Amino acid sequence: KRDPAQAYRLFELQMNLGLQRRRELAEDLRQAILTNHLDLHYQPLVRLDTGRIESVEALLRWDHPKHGMVSPLEVVAVAEQYDLALELNEWVIATACQQSLVWEAAKLPPVKMAVNISPAMYTKHDLVGSVSRIIDYYGIKPGRLMIEVTEDTTMQDIESSPDILHGLHRLGVELALDDFGTGYSSLSHLKKLPVDRLKIDKSFVHDLNNEPKDLRFIRTILSLAKSLELEVVAEGVELPQNLTDLTQEGCTLGQGYLFSKPVDADALEKILRDQQQGIRLPPWSDGYLN
Ligand code: C2E
Ligand code: MG
Ligand code: MG
Ligand code: MG
Repeated sequence: KRDPAQAYRLFELQMNLGLQRRRELAEDLRQAILTNHLDLHYQPLVRLDTGRIESVEALLRWDHPKHGMVSPLEVVAVAEQYDLALELNEWVIATACQQSLVWEAAKLPPVKMAVNISPAMYTKHDLVGSVSRIIDYYGIKPGRLMIEVTEDTTMQDIESSPDILHGLHRLGVELALDDFGTGYSSLSHLKKLPVDRLKIDKSFVHDLNNEPKDLRFIRTILSLAKSLELEVVAEGVELPQNLTDLTQEGCTLGQGYLFSKPVDADALEKILRDQQQGIRLPPWSDGYLN
C-alpha cells in the first residue's frame, strides 16, 4: 500500500540528491572550462537536394569522470544556476571558432559553424561584446559563424531582442532561431527579429508521415519563411521518408541522424574529406536517391 509520508520522504531524498549532483557538477564544470576538459561534437546540416554539407552545428559534450556523459541541457542548466553561463558560452564560441580555423588551414571545403547560446548569455551578459572579441581574437570571418538562439530565449528578453540580434548582424554573423515552433513567439515578434533562418524543432519532423497536423504545420512555416525571406532547416531528420516528405514540401536544408549523428572533430573532418572526394553522406551514398 502506498504511504504518502514515505512517498514524500522519497521525493525529498531525490530532490536533495538532485541538488547535491548539481552543486557537484557546478564545481567540476568551473574546473572543466578552465582546464579545457569539455568537448564539442559537430553535426552536419545538409542541402536536401544534393546531400552536400552546408554548415555544421557545434554541440557540447562533457564526459564527467564520475558521472559519465552529462547531457548538454543539464550542463547548460547548471551553468545558468551557478553563474557560469558567461564562461561556458565563451568557451563554446571560442572552441568552435578555433576548430573552424583548423579546418580552414587543413584546406577543407569551407563550412559555416553554428553555435548554441544559452538563455542567460542572451539576457544577462553582453553577447554582442563577447562574440565580437572572440571573432577578432581568432580572426575568423564573421560570415562563417552562425549563432543559434531558441525562440523562447528571444522571448525572455523581448524588449532587447531586436537590439541584440541587430548587434550580432552588424558584426557579420548569421542568426538562426532554434527549436522553432515550440515557443510562443508571435508573428509580430518574429517580424522584428533580424534572423536568417528558422530551425523547425525535431518534434514536428519525426512523425511527419503519420501526423497530418505536423505536415500542415511545416507547410505553414515554409510559406511564412518564404514571405519573410528566411531559410528553413528541418531538425531531426531520421527516416528516408522524412527526407522525401520534406523535399516534397520544398524544404531545402536538414539535419538529423539519417545523414549523421553529431561526431567528434576528427570524424567530421573525415566526412568533409570524403565529400571532397565525391563520397556522399548516406542516404545519397546508398543510392537511395539519384
Ligand atoms: P539543439 O540546439 O536543438 O540541437 C539539436 C539536438 O538534436 C542535439 O542534441 C542533437 O544531437 C539532436 N539531434 C540531431 N539530429 C537528431 C535526430 O535525427 N533525432 C534526434 N532524436 N535528435 C537529433 P544534444 O546534442 O543532446 O543537445 C541538446 C540541446 O542542448 C541542444 O538542442 C541545445 O539546446 C543544447 N546545447 C547543446 N550544445 C550546446 C552548447 O554548446 N551551448 C548551449 N548553450 N546549448 C547547447
Ligand atoms: Mg541548435
Ligand atoms: Mg533545435
Ligand atoms: Mg532542441
